[in-house]
Amino acid sequence: MPPLISSAIILRHVDYGEADRIVTVLTPDHGRLKGFARGARRSRKRFGTALEPFAEVRLHWVPRPGGELVSLREAELVSLRTGLRRDLETLALAGYGCELTEALFDEAVGFAEAFGLLRAFLDHLDAAGASAGARLLMELRLLTLAGIVPHLQHCAECHGALPEGPVGFDAGRGGSLCPGCGGAAAGLRVDRLTLGSLGRLLQTPLERFADIRLSPRTLQEGGALLADALRGHLPKPLKSAAFLAGL
Ligand SMILES: [Zn+2]
Repeated sequence: MPPLISSAIILRHVDYGEADRIVTVLTPDHGRLKGFARGARRSRKRFGTALEPFAEVRLHWVPRPGGELVSLREAELVSLRTGLRRDLETLALAGYGCELTEALFDEAVGFAEAFGLLRAFLDHLDAAGASAGARLLMELRLLTLAGIVPHLQHCAECHGALPEGPVGFDAGRGGSLCPGCGGAAAGLRVDRLTLGSLGRLLQTPLERFADIRLSPRTLQEGGALLADALRGHLPKPLKSAAFLAGL
C-alpha cells in the first residue's frame, strides 16, 4: 500500500526503545494520529529534525488496520518554527495551544478548522512571541469550533437582554445571567463591555492573530471567563496550563 501524505503539526513525541519514537500529530484530513517512527532517532534521512514538537511537516504514513498506531515512513519539514524557542513563555504557550486543541477535539470531528487555527496560532507565536491576547483568542476560538462557547451577550437561561455594567457569569449554567435569572449570585462578574468585546472577537477571521488589540479589562475579565468555560470541558487540568501559571 502506498503511503498517504498529510500536512501535520507535531503535537508531542516520546522515545521508544533504542532508536524509535512514537509521535502524536494533528492533520486537517485525518484528525489526530499517533504514529510509530521506526529508527527515527538514528535515521536522519527519513525524519531529520522534522519530528520536533510544533514543527509542521508533510507526513508520509500508512494506516495499520486494527492498530492504534499508524506507521510513519517519512516527514518532510515545512516549518520548524524556531521562533517559539525564543523564551520559556512562548514555548509554554505553544505547548498549551497544542494540549488544549488535543483535549477539546476527539478523533472524529471538525479537524480542518482546528488544524488551521492551531497552525495560525503557532505561526503567530513564532513571529511575535507570547501574549495574553493570543492566548485569549485561541481559547475563545477553540471553544467556538468545539461548539461549546458560552452565551455571552444574552442571558443563557431566558435569552433576555443584559444590563449595563457588571453581569453575572456561570459557565455551568451556560454563560451570562441576567438579574432575573440570578446573575447577582453568580461566582464571576464580568462587565457587559467585556462581553461585547468577546462577541466582536468571534466575528474576526479564525486565523487572524496579528493587529487585534484588547484592553487590559478584556484580557483580565475575558481570561477569567474563558478559564471558567474551559474547566467544565476538560477531563483533567492541563499540565501546560499549570506550567504557564507558574511562570
Ligand atoms: Zn435571564
